[in-house]
Amino acid sequence: MGTDLAVRYVEIALNLPIDKTFSYSVPDDLLTHLETLTGCRVEVNFRNRKTVGYIINTAVERPEGDYEIKKILRVLDEKPLFGNPETDLAEWIARRYFCSIGEVLGTMLPGGKKESTPPALFSDEDEYSADIQLSDEQEFALEAVLDESRSAVYLYGITGSGKTEVYLRAAASVLEKGEGVIYLVPEISLTHQIVKEARRRFGKTVSVWHSKITPSQRLAEWRRIRTGEARMVIGARSAVFAPLSKTGLIIIDEEHEGSYKSGSSPRYHARQVAFYRSARDKGRLIMGSATPSVEAVQLMQEGKLRELRLTRRLAGGSPPEIQIINMAGQKGTISRELTAELKSTLGMKRQAILFLNRRGYSYFFHCKSCGYEMKCRNCSVSLTFHKNRNRMLCHYCGYQSDPVQVCPECGSLDVGYSGYGTEGIEDEIKTLFPESSVERIDTDTVSRKGSMEQILNRFHKGETDILLGTQMVAKGLNFPGVRLVGIVMADTTLLLPDFRSAERTFSLLTQVAGRAGRFHPDGRVLIQTFHPQASAVYLAAQNDPEEFYRRELETRRMLKFPPASRLIRILFRGKDRHKVTRAAEDFSTAILRDLPNGLELLGPGEAPLSVISGNFRMHMILRGSDVKAMHSILLFYSRKLDPPGGTYREIDADPVSLL
Ligand code: ADP
Ligand code: ZN
Ligand code: ZN
Repeated sequence: MGTDLAVRYVEIALNLPIDKTFSYSVPDDLLTHLETLTGCRVEVNFRNRKTVGYIINTAVERPEGDYEIKKILRVLDEKPLFGNPETDLAEWIARRYFCSIGEVLGTMLPGGKKESTPPALFSDEDEYSADIQLSDEQEFALEAVLDESRSAVYLYGITGSGKTEVYLRAAASVLEKGEGVIYLVPEISLTHQIVKEARRRFGKTVSVWHSKITPSQRLAEWRRIRTGEARMVIGARSAVFAPLSKTGLIIIDEEHEGSYKSGSSPRYHARQVAFYRSARDKGRLIMGSATPSVEAVQLMQEGKLRELRLTRRLAGGSPPEIQIINMAGQKGTISRELTAELKSTLGMKRQAILFLNRRGYSYFFHCKSCGYEMKCRNCSVSLTFHKNRNRMLCHYCGYQSDPVQVCPECGSLDVGYSGYGTEGIEDEIKTLFPESSVERIDTDTVSRKGSMEQILNRFHKGETDILLGTQMVAKGLNFPGVRLVGIVMADTTLLLPDFRSAERTFSLLTQVAGRAGRFHPDGRVLIQTFHPQASAVYLAAQNDPEEFYRRELETRRMLKFPPASRLIRILFRGKDRHKVTRAAEDFSTAILRDLPNGLELLGPGEAPLSVISGNFRMHMILRGSDVKAMHSILLFYSRKLDPPGGTYREIDADPVSLL
């Protein structure tokens, strides 16, 4: 190289919330050994700091403008990591979710510098049943996925109805044509069976993006996909970015799961990205769940998503009988009814799963005289008592304090801990059933590497009688010995001040209940609640999703919440309450001045979690049905108005949580 036409300038995106790209020049010594620069990562100086940047364009001529152009320091890749399809996707996401291209590329691309091979995940000793004959419903669904209309399809079917088998057959057909497949799952650590099965069927072309993969291993996998050596990618949310050259099929298992939406910038939803990618690449899209999101239900009703029903359990077993237990007037946290069922289950030498969506010993410290609740000093949430450490803990910021015996507010001695937590339930169960073995799964017990697998293994082998856990036990686990599933408190998600709380409760209860009765005809499910009349609770118990969705859609229409509208949430946070309030008010005043017809601005007001880690939080919600208009006004004002020093602004398009 070194000719007159050599690339001398590069356009670089930085992983910073700055809505701009930057020009740098290429020093002569770097020109000589590089074929292509676009798509490589580089190290540059930016605001006196070394930063990684992504080359999204190159030029021979100096860009216009009279500013100083700095040299890049180092090129980190020998070969490009990304090309036009990735840049195009990053641009789309940046626009759609109000962030910079560099922030998207930073999330999309592997961070490793040297490639290394991923560890072997599983041994191949597992036997597998001979190839199964698809049921009529599965056959029909598979044809619909693969037919020429290429419409997005939804496999709506209960746990065990054979959705996975349809996904894998569709994948096989697409791989055979030489195209790529992305298989999204909510949490890769809970999907060993799928990964194993995919490896067995498709071999080395499968690339698994699990959370324990190191950056260098991820880099190696990324390269394997780019070269076409791997054409099927299984992973959580970010696998939707896999750099397949032709994406023939995207599968989204458990479509309703909240983990498909990113909680930090870029705040993308994998489902929306999948829609975009499959439309762009003329690929196919298949989603599935026993409890579709309310948005998906609406799309099915409108005919924008092709609804395919799988109504029968193929591996045998019948839906369990579900009983609601009203906790009003019951002593303790385990009702008489649940105690009796546990007793008979253990008597039959069978197993039970107890499910509770909250870790810790009990929910909060509570003064029975004045109602004082012990809250976190930095956050507006109650502290949770952790008995094994004898500490009160904040689950948001990690703040700790000593438990108290006297009310700090009124001095009363009549104080106690009320509410429910996995640790507290474990104690109560051990007292009630001293002879039985109990194990607990939550983020407290599984933080040690491999401990979750061990606990699950022991339970699988029948060494444990009762497994107790947070939602981790609700997903994707199949245990042949389980007879009883107890939902210790259905209300933990129900009472959150969020328009999706009923939907979440319904799907959680339905999914947890699906764990029982899958293998045995006498499966039992008990749901403990203080709100037996809440439709999310009793319609889950009656196994009546149609009625639940009908009512929920009606409520959303009445209250103008999605899918009856679109929302964009704008949140301001900072240490100084006054400044944050001002920033939010200034922003809303500006927007209100030329708010187009048909759009509404709700707020500003305190966010339901009004303080997190000492940061005061104010939010407002832009609502309407014209997404384009919503985007353009927000884009205009977010560029025009920078949040004042010490305050931060987050814009969340189609938020899944408003807390
Ligand atoms: P889902 O993904 O809907 O929960 P799976 O695909 O995991 O359901 O299927 C549940 C069980 O039924 C699995 O053990 C699977 O091997 C079995 N299965 C799937 N399809 C068939 C079929 N056509 N005939 C018999 N068993 C099947
Ligand atoms: Zn008190
Ligand atoms: Zn806190």
